[in-house]
Amino acid sequence: MSPHAAALRHATAEALMPDTEDSPLPPHREDARTSSSLAASPPVAETLDSLLDLFTPPAVDRLAWPLADEAGVIVECLRADTLDSEISGNKAWKLRLPLARALSEKRGIISCGGGWSNHLHALAAAGARLGIETHGLVRGHPEAPLTPTLADARDNGMRLSFVSRAEYRQRDQPDFARRHGEGVWIPEGGGCVEGVAGLAPLAQALAEPVPGESVPQLVLLACGSGTTLAGVLSALGERDGLRVIGVPTMNHGDQLYHRVRRLLAESGGSQQKTPEWGLWLGAQAGGFAKAPDWLIQFIQRFEAETGVAVEPVYTAKLFAALAHHLANGLIARGTRIRVLHSGGLQGRRGYPALQAI
Ligand SMILES: *Cc1c(COP(=O)(O)O)cnc(C)c1O
Repeated sequence: MSPHAAALRHATAEALMPDTEDSPLPPHREDARTSSSLAASPPVAETLDSLLDLFTPPAVDRLAWPLADEAGVIVECLRADTLDSEISGNKAWKLRLPLARALSEKRGIISCGGGWSNHLHALAAAGARLGIETHGLVRGHPEAPLTPTLADARDNGMRLSFVSRAEYRQRDQPDFARRHGEGVWIPEGGGCVEGVAGLAPLAQALAEPVPGESVPQLVLLACGSGTTLAGVLSALGERDGLRVIGVPTMNHGDQLYHRVRRLLAESGGSQQKTPEWGLWLGAQAGGFAKAPDWLIQFIQRFEAETGVAVEPVYTAKLFAALAHHLANGLIARGTRIRVLHSGGLQGRRGYPALQAI
């Protein structure tokens, strides 16, 4: 990422601010299509796994965090951020089955996102390594300077087409992709049945005990489109003694209840069993990609204390929500928590107050 750090210094802070007008939640549509089949055959998925060497379960680190120690709570972190320098965290898993399908059907992939999209960033890198053509439909103007995120995507061979805000709002319409190109379509953020299904191995790693330790009782993860939460719930099924909590990172996070239920129903039917789950609302810190001073200060302190890097859009809000619960005695002493570090660190480049890593 360092070549882009230089570019970052030359850009104005304003040009670098993430596009925060829209939340990552597409408009809610009961009749959404997303009946993309799960036809990706396991053998192709296996070939893919060996090609990318990405899908081995990430390490679990016990967090050395004074706040957790004082609360008598054990915080274990599943380090999906360490999986790969470009194909980060949960994105790799959500892309797994669409990539496998594109390989087997010998087609390219077309998807969409904003200027700082971790999803497009990861997709471009995966496509480059697998020889799959990728095409990103980006909300924004072609004349605007490319964000470092999009510059990386372009350097990885992604074709970029810019669409207006008005057009981008149509991204859930069946013909949105077809108007711009050909290829296996991945909805924004990988929010489709294949995205949900691809997360299964990551979900197992989230709930698995560290050898010699007891099983986690609480799983925490950050939510954008809610696909990761749906994937984890769907893969874990009914589990006594485990609660899974999603932390919405955008305004109107309560809409995620519907979205996650819809993804679950599309993936496994309405009778699908899940662990007990819920959302911690109120951690959005002003809205999607917003980073008030207190959040930047939280990041700096958290990183100094734990040695774990986070970014403002998702993972800092996740840990800040946990910090709030710990500091207020809202989690029983002795609880073992597993937190998904879903990566996304490339997005730090959008925040001049933070050092790019
Ligand atoms: C995309 C992303 C999320 C949100 O995942 P969803 O499946 O869209 O809810 C969380 N964390 C990071 C770092 C991400 O890039």
